[in-house]
Amino acid sequence: MSKIRLTALPRELRKIINMIYKNYSEEELMRVIDAYEYAKLYHGSQKRKSGEPYIIHPLNVALILAELNLDIISIQAGLLHDVAEDTTASLQDIEDYFGKDVAKIVDGVTKIEKLNIAQSSLDKKAETVRKMFLAMAEDIRVILVKLADRLHNLRTMDSMPENKQKEKAKETLQIYAPLAHRLGIHAIKWQLEDLAFKYLYPEEYKKIAAIVDRKRIDREFISEEYKSMLQLTLSRHGINFEISGRQKHFYSIWRKMDNFFKPIDEIYDMIALRVITSTEKECYYVMGLVHNLWKPIPGRVKDYIATPKSNGYRSLHTSVITHRGEALEIQIRSKEMHQEAEFGLAAHWIYKEGKISKYQQDWLERLKEWHMDYKQGISGLVEFQKELGIEDVYIFTPKGEVKHMPKGSTTIDFAYSVHTEIGHHFAGAKVNGNIESLDYELKNGDMVEIIVNKNSNGPSRDWLKYAKSSSTRAKIKRFFREKYNIELQEKGKEILRQASKKLQISMEEISSSPEFVALISKDNILKPKDILLKLGEGEYSAEDIVALFDVKEEEEEKIEDIPVKKSKRPKNTVMVNGQSGIFVKIAKCCSPVPGDPIIGVLSPKGITVHIQNCPNVKNIVQGEMVEVNWGDTTSETYPVSILLETNDASGSVLKEILKRAKDKSVKIDEVNTKFNGWDNLTYRIRIYVRSSSQLLEIIENWGKINGVLRTYRVGEN
Ligand code: MN
Repeated sequence: MSKIRLTALPRELRKIINMIYKNYSEEELMRVIDAYEYAKLYHGSQKRKSGEPYIIHPLNVALILAELNLDIISIQAGLLHDVAEDTTASLQDIEDYFGKDVAKIVDGVTKIEKLNIAQSSLDKKAETVRKMFLAMAEDIRVILVKLADRLHNLRTMDSMPENKQKEKAKETLQIYAPLAHRLGIHAIKWQLEDLAFKYLYPEEYKKIAAIVDRKRIDREFISEEYKSMLQLTLSRHGINFEISGRQKHFYSIWRKMDNFFKPIDEIYDMIALRVITSTEKECYYVMGLVHNLWKPIPGRVKDYIATPKSNGYRSLHTSVITHRGEALEIQIRSKEMHQEAEFGLAAHWIYKEGKISKYQQDWLERLKEWHMDYKQGISGLVEFQKELGIEDVYIFTPKGEVKHMPKGSTTIDFAYSVHTEIGHHFAGAKVNGNIESLDYELKNGDMVEIIVNKNSNGPSRDWLKYAKSSSTRAKIKRFFREKYNIELQEKGKEILRQASKKLQISMEEISSSPEFVALISKDNILKPKDILLKLGEGEYSAEDIVALFDVKEEEEEKIEDIPVKKSKRPKNTVMVNGQSGIFVKIAKCCSPVPGDPIIGVLSPKGITVHIQNCPNVKNIVQGEMVEVNWGDTTSETYPVSILLETNDASGSVLKEILKRAKDKSVKIDEVNTKFNGWDNLTYRIRIYVRSSSQLLEIIENWGKINGVLRTYRVGEN
């Protein structure tokens, strides 16, 4: 410690350094001192309400964090946590000097600080606010700094006005103490509760403090007697243990009185002992010995080792009637369980070469997922609340690591929670050594081993049935969307192919048929690729498509149709220079129908018939014009297209058109859809008419349909 002169540092910082110096290099310790110097510089002459220099506050926050065994990133963030909000220092400065992690935590703390949630919504929605805090904190250390911040503020509230004190105290009971509980940090939780209790209900606090104090002498005497009896028994059986008397916290005594109207003498755990063993096995052994010594009270044995509490708390609890005829509560747990109970997540905060532990990573991962869900808005929020429902199950990996899963999760959810790729290559799961199916619902304490098939091509669609977590479902769906687009399109094509085979109509004809377009346009689908995707996703089957075309009618028609298929186009009914029987083509750019004034254009390929004012005709040299007239047209219909603009994207306009066309025996053989915006689209509908007057009638008739903006005639294509 050559570079560091401890004597020049404030007491709190010396304490911090003393606590952590074994685990960190001199350079790292210097970074903590730098953070202190930086905070001190920026807070400058700022004072707390109490009149103390402001720096006292961040120093104490950092000290609390150090006492929780947190890492130096957290301690630095604790020192700097008010710098970004209250001084001229910027977040960028902090990042430049102390790195991304520290800056991110400071940023998170500042954001939560700024939330300023109304008391009314706290009363109604405390649970939602807690979830929101968790979700906002992408790094769990944000919450830990915030808890330490609140704890120190509560410890130093005396100079605040009373209404402010009560406000803070209430908020603490509603938000921060439950968060500490959720994270399993008992050491912080009870301090927050007792301090808040003191400010919120000062009279009750004084009463309980007085009673507890009055009975202290008695209680300590009795407690010593119980302890020595228990010690004697346990050492006879060669068990390694520690026994401590346990001070019951004021707030929880009061809660029990408040809840059950019990007089204080009847609160079981006024005297309580805690036995800490070396191993889990010994816990059960000790419980047996305790029950031999004193009579257990039925129904008071709780095995939180076999079934940990949702915040991870593990311990055996029992209450006995002692030889004095009094109730005595005893908690039995291993050293490791004790660490976890006191420091929760922080107990696992073991840094190795600057890397966070697996346990924390899981937490961070889950927080990130919650965060994403949260951001997805209302629909996501429901799922997110469900998942955060605090009713987690705890699962063990074969290596003995603990994983939290939302209640109801299945083996497939578990596989995806380990890693997305493991999920994608899921081949099965062993639960407690037995092969279990995909839909096996995980139970507390299950040991789950995922079997992976490296050669698998990815998830199967019906996994969605078994995936209970929204993030698993999202991952599976994303997989299909992103990587299997092509395969889905192939599937879609196959469905179309099957339909085409059954209907004896080409795939192109099916996909441009009015019936099919009407079906698909419900889903606002524009591109052929998306149509195939939709089909591939199983939205519509080949049978659905076949059902669109009335098969029986189609088959009857086919008998007549097949021999004349090639002459579907109208017969040559145009006379050239007064002569019939000369072959002409009808131009597709303007698609003249009988009644239209027409003109012939002669080219090496023959004569093409246009409407006289067709723009294409004007570009043609005069000499090539041929005079043409309509001949006997009564038995033929001619193709022409109508453009129809509508603001109805539901398909009901198209449906109405198909109905009207059928009623009037107007043949429609192709509909193309173009989306112009949210709910403005244009249909290009090819119909067959006998004359220009019939066409005009149709255009006017369709134009009156509700939702139709504009109808006009265009060429066939
Ligand atoms: Mn603060």
